[in-house]
Amino acid sequence: MNLIQAIRTIPDYPKKGIMFRDITTLLGDAEAFRHAVDAMVDPFRNAGITKVAGIEARGFILGGAIAHQLKAGFVPLRKRGKLPGETYTVEYALEYGVDAMEMHRDALIEGERTMMIDDLIATGGTALAAVDLLRRAGAEVVAASFVIDLPDLGGAKKLEQEAKVPVSTLVTFSGH
Ligand code: AMP
Repeated sequence: MNLIQAIRTIPDYPKKGIMFRDITTLLGDAEAFRHAVDAMVDPFRNAGITKVAGIEARGFILGGAIAHQLKAGFVPLRKRGKLPGETYTVEYALEYGVDAMEMHRDALIEGERTMMIDDLIATGGTALAAVDLLRRAGAEVVAASFVIDLPDLGGAKKLEQEAKVPVSTLVTFSGH
């Protein structure tokens, strides 16, 4: 199963110079979607994960399926202003812009073994913010898993070295 072929690249979106790695084509391909979810789940079947945290919005689609497979709960990490309850907030830099992410303060209990999910890691700014949020709420962040790594942007390395979170990824693209 070649996952790379299931991912569509759209040049200059959302702005010039960005090669947008579009996973909607992977999600729409039954075999590729299932394969990606299984590959993300496999190393963690017996890891005692009780929560899967997904980053809005593509991390929700993958994270929901992964949580189901691991028999874990799901925690949404959302853009500012979307969650109705008491939240923790963190601001972070994107590859293209600045944003804020929030999670409910009571989304998990102290020490819960949590796996973090998104579609892609680039500079790591989003993922580092997510780890920050999860740790503020008391999570033990056991792993971070992504479909796509852009290693030239260094995010996966940063997450492992600075945040001490083991990272797994399924495919890599060079460049931006
Ligand atoms: P970063 O914070 O730089 O690691 O960027 C990761 C976040 O931005 C993820 O939520 C990705 O979905 C999105 N993103 C960044 N770069 C790209 C790209 N080239 N193609 C698709 N999504 C991207």
